[in-house]
Amino acid sequence: MPFTQLGLSAELLRAVSEEGYTKPTPIQQQAIPVVLEGRDILAGAQTGTGKTASFTLPLLQRLMETPLNGRQRVVRALILTPTRELAAQVQDSVRAYGKHLPLRSTVIFGGVSMVPQMRALRNGVDIVVATPGRLLDHVRQRTLDLSQVEMFVLDEADRMLDMGFIRDIRQVIAVLPKARQNLLFSATFSEEIKALSAQLLHNPAMVEV
Ligand code: AMP
Repeated sequence: MPFTQLGLSAELLRAVSEEGYTKPTPIQQQAIPVVLEGRDILAGAQTGTGKTASFTLPLLQRLMETPLNGRQRVVRALILTPTRELAAQVQDSVRAYGKHLPLRSTVIFGGVSMVPQMRALRNGVDIVVATPGRLLDHVRQRTLDLSQVEMFVLDEADRMLDMGFIRDIRQVIAVLPKARQNLLFSATFSEEIKALSAQLLHNPAMVEV
């Protein structure tokens, strides 16, 4: 199946082709159409399968489907990752795939000053990629408002739980609006992941590679 059959916009197809991708990977073929429909998904995929593009491409497209039209820019998509390295990589993908779109993103992680992060947030972003602890620091200091989030992605959810982030994840979910699309990616499915999925996801499509 070629990329052109997945329902992605011309701007996204151009970015994908500029990345040198010729064909969607199995997780992309399965996840992209479902996410574009607005459904929640529970996806089983390891690193290296192309999972990042499988949530980033349809996320960008869905944000473009309801443009700002003069409204103030607010955070509409939140992607949580377990580590700062992964957060930085995901942000690189968001930038690369969104390079022909008028969307702004930023990355938030701990171990560095909060000040440049606050400045980026104040300037207005559509998409935040973050690790849980520092994200919550910004929420508590009211330098980040998550009340308008429409799409929530938990990437490498199993690693997040292994790293002890379950309480942080629950605190993040508590400040999100109830009506939103949720995407959960995990390489493994422990009882803990199943319990989190059951709480977080509504009628999810199951996608596994
Ligand atoms: P990920 O599993 O998201 O960490 O992606 C693994 C690697 O595959 C990254 O370097 C991507 O740039 C690359 N990649 C993602 N999708 C494709 C594709 N459809 N064709 C070729 N490479 C891809």
